[in-house]
Order: sequence, then C-alpha cells, then structure tokens
Amino acid sequence: MQVYDAPLRDMRFVLNELHSDDGFGALPIHAEFTPDLTDAILEEAAKFCREVLLPLNRPGDEEGCHLENGVVRTPAGFIEAYKAFAEGGWTSLASSPEWGGQGVPEAVGKLVEEMICSANLSFGLYPGLTHGAVCAIEGHASDALKAAYLPKLVSGEWAGTMCLTEPHCGTDLGLLRTRAVPQDDGSYSVSGAKIFISAGEHDLTGNIVHLVLARLPDAPPGIKGISLFLVPKFLPKEDGTPGPRNGVTCAAIEHKMGLKASATCQMLFDDATGWLVGEPHKGMAAMFTMMNAERLSVGIQGLGVGEAAYQSAVWYAKDRLQGRSLAGAKYPDKPADPIIVHPDVRRMLMTMRAYNEGCRALSAWVARALDAETHSPDPEVRQRASDFVALMTPVVKALFTDLASDSANLAVQCYGGHGYIRESGVEQYARDARITMIYEGTNGVQALDLVGRKLGANMGRYLRSFFHPVSQFIEENNVDGPMKPMVEGLAKAFGALQLSTATIAQRGLKDPEEAGAASADYLRLLGLVAMGYCFAKSTRIAGLKLFFGAEDKAFYDAKIKTATYFFERILPQATASFLAIKAGKTSMMALADDAF
Ligand SMILES: Cc1cc2nc3c(=O)[nH]c(=O)nc-3n(C[C@H](O)[C@H](O)[C@H](O)COP(=O)(O)OP(=O)(O)OC[C@H]3O[C@@H](n4cnc5c(N)ncnc54)[C@H](O)[C@@H]3O)c2cc1C
Repeated sequence: MQVYDAPLRDMRFVLNELHSDDGFGALPIHAEFTPDLTDAILEEAAKFCREVLLPLNRPGDEEGCHLENGVVRTPAGFIEAYKAFAEGGWTSLASSPEWGGQGVPEAVGKLVEEMICSANLSFGLYPGLTHGAVCAIEGHASDALKAAYLPKLVSGEWAGTMCLTEPHCGTDLGLLRTRAVPQDDGSYSVSGAKIFISAGEHDLTGNIVHLVLARLPDAPPGIKGISLFLVPKFLPKEDGTPGPRNGVTCAAIEHKMGLKASATCQMLFDDATGWLVGEPHKGMAAMFTMMNAERLSVGIQGLGVGEAAYQSAVWYAKDRLQGRSLAGAKYPDKPADPIIVHPDVRRMLMTMRAYNEGCRALSAWVARALDAETHSPDPEVRQRASDFVALMTPVVKALFTDLASDSANLAVQCYGGHGYIRESGVEQYARDARITMIYEGTNGVQALDLVGRKLGANMGRYLRSFFHPVSQFIEENNVDGPMKPMVEGLAKAFGALQLSTATIAQRGLKDPEEAGAASADYLRLLGLVAMGYCFAKSTRIAGLKLFFGAEDKAFYDAKIKTATYFFERILPQATASFLAIKAGKTSMMALADDAF
C-alpha cells in the first residue's frame, strides 16, 4: 500500500534548527517567514499532498496519458487537482513577487517540492518544469518577454517545458540540429524534432511555453553554436490571452517504464514562431539556469520517492506477520511476529531512513545557500553561497537519485513477492525513481561535471565553500565525549575525500580519462561526507536538546540513533569509494573495445 504523510517534524528540524549557524546569516527579505508562518505553509502543503495528490498516484500510474488527435489527456483527476494546486497558490510559492509569486524562501519551497514528489512524482513534473522555465526567462529574456510570460507561468495558468533532446542528440547537445531563422519582425522561425519532452503537450493549462535549443543559420558548429528560444503553443494576442495555434505539435507520447502520468512527448516544431532568449549562440548559458534549477529539483524528486517508499515499507513491516524474532517471540499473542523484528528487515528500513534524513538535511543546506546567493545583503556571502550551490548541484542530483532508486528497491524487497505485484504500489516507486538517475543529465554526466568543472573551478574556490565548514566542525568537536566516535568517523572520511581530491587533480591533469574513471566514486564519497557532516551536526544539536530536557525527546533520540546507524553502517562505504579512486583507470580501460 502506498502510505505517505509528510515528515513534518524532520522538515521543521532541518529548516529551523540544523543550519542556523551555516554562515549565510538571516536574510532581511525573509524576516516575515517566521517558524509559525513556515509551519502553516508546510502543514497546508502536507494536507494537499495527502488528500489530493496521493490518491491520484496509483490510478495515474495505471491509466497513464493518452494521445488523441494530437491532444494529450492526463489521467482522470489531474485537471481538477492541477486547478486546485494553482488556485491554492502552490505554483507561485517560491517565485518572485515581481511576477505575482509569493517570494517564499527556497528553503521552504524545496520542502514543499519534496512532499509533492512523494505524493505524486508524475504530477510534480508539470509545475516543476514550469518553475525551471520561470528561472530561465527571469534570468535571460527581454523585458517584453518577461512581462508577457512570467505572470502567467508563475500563476500556473500556463506551463513551461525544456526542449533539448533530439533523436540523435542526448548528452552531447553539440550535435543538435533544430534550426531557427530570423524573421523581419524580430521573431524566429523554429523547425526541428525534439524527443522525450516532459509535459510537451497536456490538458492542464491554457498555453504551454517551450524553451527550445536551436541553431541560427550562422551558428558555429558544436555546443558554442546553440541559442535558446521561447516558443509558445498558442501565440499570445495583444491582450495577452492565447491566440492562434503556433507550429508546434505532439507527434507521439512515449510508452515508458514508469512516470506514466507524466506525458513524455515527441514534439515537432514546423516553422514555429519563437523569440530569442539571451544572446545569440549563448543558449547553453541561458539554458543552464533552467538545467541547474531542474537538477536540484530532480534530486528532490529522488528524495521524495525515497521517503514515500520508506513510509510504505515501514507500514508493511509492522503489518506483515512472518517468523519469530531471533531473540524469542516478541508478539506471542499473534501467530507470528511482524517482520519489523527481523534484523535484515531493520537493515533495509534503517538504510532507507538514513538516506532520506541525510539527503533532506543536505538539501536544506543547499536550499539555504540558494536563498543566500540571491538575497544576502553581503556580497561575500552571496559569492560563497553561489559557490556552494554550484558544487552541490551535481551531488544533489546524482546522489539523491541513486539512493532513491536503492530505497525504492529496498521497499520492494521489504514487501517480498507482494512488492513485485502491482497492487502493493511499491513497484511503482522503483519504476518512477529509475528515471531520476537518467534525465536532466545522467548521473554519470553529473559526476563528470563535479570532477571536470567544479573541482578545479576558480582555484578550488567551490570546494572550499564545503571543505571549510567540515574541517572547522571536526576541529571544534574532536574532544572526548559522546560525539567522539562520530567525529572520528567523519574526520577519516573527510581525509579520504581530501586525498582523493588531490589524486584526481594530479592524475586528471596528465590524463583526463583518470578523472573520468574516478568521477562516480568521487561524487559518492563527497556525498557521503556531506551527509556525515549533516548527521554529526544533527547529533550535536539533538544531544544538547536532550541534555536541556527538550519536550520532543522521541524525535531527538531517534535522530541520534539514525545518525549512529549512518556512521556505523553507511559511512564506511567511503573507504570503498576511496580505494576505487586510488586504483585509477587501468582495470576499467584495459579490455579492448572489441573484446567486450
Ligand atoms: C521520461 C523522460 C523524460 C525526459 N524529459 C526531458 C525533457 O523534458 N526535456 C529534454 O530535453 N529531455 C528530456 N529527457 C531526455 C533525457 O534528458 C536524456 O535521455 C538524457 O539526457 C540522456 O540522453 P540519452 O538518452 O540520449 O542518452 P545518451 O546521451 O545516449 O547516453 C547513454 C549513456 O552513455 C553515457 N554517456 C554519454 N555521453 C557520455 C560522456 N561524454 N561521458 C560519459 N558517459 C557518457 C550516459 O551517461 C548514459 O549512461 C527525458 C527522458 C526521459 C526518458
């Protein structure tokens, strides 16, 4: 059974308690968002997710989307749910008030995003992509385009997409063929075929605004010759309402492994009218604004599915009676004990729980940096926050989604054979989570981004935004006391990370294949250290709260137990990653291509 209730207590912890000393400081622009107000937002969002989105998750997966005469119909209930979602102000939550948004901190917005993805990942994609499109238009479009499109996108009246992928061109966007020809009136005529476009066509909104990568006639070849265009499904009339149909059609929808209620479309642009966003041939820079926003969002999608899978597994583990506890019957009045008594089932549940809490803590840190990079009055803080976001974006995307897929599979395992059967609902999580490792840049590509672009950038400045707080924490807390084993564990993993960084920098300079061969393990190692740091901080806070007699004893006690599990059973994987990095590329590349 799909079970989900937003983990509000943990969300409040990461929002209000965990990162208050992160050096980004309080932001005057967010002064009105007191814990009382953010609590109310989170509670309302939790209610909407529980009552409206969750009940549509399994039926949406069963029904999927339909393409009829070029029109895509979303599953039953989606139109009404989307209407309620937009009317409730959820599409405009974290957007700027300048365009009708509510200006809620990203630190809150990301928690709401997590809830939406837990309750119904397919549904979450529609507003999620729109939010990314808003970021790109806001950052790069002309004032006229902003005025015409942003208010409608922010209100949820219209939706957005990102159109990059073509049949022959996925990761390597330099191969892109879609063309854009300048017209006398300043617009462009866009023609080409795009595939795998999420929300390319649907029945939820009055218009769909495509952000399309294409080449101008004089474009240099490769990635440096790509420009970004805004191409609406309906061309707006003078009064801003949708007018004539543009030359954009949906030729087919993909039949896919999961995420079935999200329409994945093959889109044809045939002399479609569009407008340039940003400068000619600088489309990748503009699109990266959207891609970076989406990469963080996809990480949150992973966390969302991981949490839903965990909660469903816990529910089942308490309900399913099989065998007796190895320590003797724990529920002698029942014909058998619930499977939650078995150590191996505990291993699975604790692993999922630790993944989710660790990822949530890390994502809350990144979300605070997102707010600080835009709104801090101090330029030094803005720079540091921006460095941290740049470093962590590939980590959040790849680590969270790898762990989500593991969690979803562990949930299936907790259910045994029933997990493999559709009615249980957990196999949907495994299918839905799987795509998050692939789209928005595969996780392999995220790892390359981390080692290739982020490590050496600005003489290691991005990395310092993370290394400094971790080494400071270790220094300050490496004293005798209950925290000592954790701090020592963190120091060991951090040492391995520092050594690995030096190794990759040294070897990668001479041989880029060495950096490529180390990249996935390096991302995992950095992610484990980041989660370890968050867990160690959480433990320190929880310990103090318990010492001073906090009311919420059960929460803090569980936090320390989960952190201890992470340190004893998960963080040791850092050593394996370190050894793999140290081994270098030789065995990976030794076999000739034709020997496979
Ligand atoms: C459900 C779904 C929704 C999607 N939504 C959108 C969307 O809204 N908009 C959009 O534009 N696209 C979308 N995509 C496309 C998605 O982003 C691409 O599938 C993804 O970027 C990978 O491209 P590809 O499938 O062509 O794989 P390829 O690029 O062919 O990659 C195949 C494998 O090779 C690896 N690889 C490729 N190049 C390298 C390299 N240089 N170094 C190391 N490894 C490499 C990859 O990591 C991968 O493992 C969607 C896809 C799906 C399935």
